[in-house]
Amino acid sequence: MKHIYQQLEREKMALYNVMEEIVRDVLLQYKDQLQLTCQCERCFNDIMAIALNELPPRYIANEEYGPYVRAAHVADRQGATNIILIVTKAATFVSNNPRCPVMNPVTSKTTV
Ligand SMILES: [Zn+2]
Repeated sequence: MKHIYQQLEREKMALYNVMEEIVRDVLLQYKDQLQLTCQCERCFNDIMAIALNELPPRYIANEEYGPYVRAAHVADRQGATNIILIVTKAATFVSNNPRCPVMNPVTSKTTV
């Protein structure tokens, strides 16, 4: 997962969604407590996508301000609790419905 972010940084995005980083932080921080059935990159990305679709984006034009926006979110206890709840919900869904090849090794063969 790390190399994807390095790639995005290299592309110099004009807009930057700080919520992505916040969700990633929460996911990495709580991954052991979320009882994930699979911890591969695909499942992590699925969890992030589902959570990010439910959370309001926090776009900034200059990623240098990212740490300040993140700090403001961490200080907002109610907002932080809501993010953890949504990430937990997304993690439960993906754990019950993993779509990655790691958890579905025969899917591609059964269609033949
Ligand atoms: Zn997986």
